[in-house]
Amino acid sequence: EPGEGPVLAARGIVKRFGGLTALAGVDLAVRAGTVHGVMGPNGSGKSTLMSCLTHHLRADEGTVLVDGRPAPRTPAAVAAAGVTRVFQIPHLFAQVSALDNVLTGMYLRSRHTWAAAVARTPGHRREDRTQREEARDLLAFAGLGGRADWPADALSHGQKRLLEVARAVATRPRVLILDEPATGLTAVEVDALARLVRALRERGLAVVLIEHNVEFVMRVCDVITVLDGGRVIAEGTPAQVRDDPAVLRAYLGD
Ligand code: ADP
Ligand code: MG
Repeated sequence: EPGEGPVLAARGIVKRFGGLTALAGVDLAVRAGTVHGVMGPNGSGKSTLMSCLTHHLRADEGTVLVDGRPAPRTPAAVAAAGVTRVFQIPHLFAQVSALDNVLTGMYLRSRHTWAAAVARTPGHRREDRTQREEARDLLAFAGLGGRADWPADALSHGQKRLLEVARAVATRPRVLILDEPATGLTAVEVDALARLVRALRERGLAVVLIEHNVEFVMRVCDVITVLDGGRVIAEGTPAQVRDDPAVLRAYLGD
């Protein structure tokens, strides 16, 4: 029965860069319908772990499982299996409207081909109308309702990040990996992001949230894994992790 076990799991991931061991045997189990935080000081291996999960990097040891089966071996195939990653730097179409940026995400999961989209078949026109409505809803949800027709380039830094998340959601992933999405966001934008992340959990998605903003992590996560020096030093609910002496030591230094 799918949905029982973790939707995304890592077992014993080791990753070395020359003489440096960035990940020294990391386990992670992400369940559907949860927001799973990954915290840790700078250089603790968070982004490297995400790259190994999505096969942007090849781990030296260990396995990645999607729905309990070995993950596909390329980033594109991992994405096709429903694991989507939003990078620290937005990759938006700068001159294209916010709405059309979200629509590009939807076309990635459209049952029509690009050729049909270009030829504008009746079936495509019908789908296009409902997708536009859905895209507008998604933008409103991300706090960008008033910006649908703005070119992405004209948005603030925080709005661009929210738009990037909205576009990733539009691809209908089952696991959404967000690498430090709150960086540079205003308090209002952080609230919009928190709303979006909670809504994704309600819809049964798993969200993996790498974040420096401790207050934000504590607010939205169900489970938090804490890395230090390429190892898991703590895992549990926000309350459990907050009071863990090993976590305090990692953040405050010895
Ligand atoms: P975090 O995301 O937690 O800040 P990273 O995963 O980016 O940490 O980095 C973990 C460690 O691996 C750091 O010591 C970093 O310098 C090193 N590292 C990351 N990527 C590379 C790379 N491509 N080549 C060499 N070292 C790297
Ligand atoms: Mg990082």
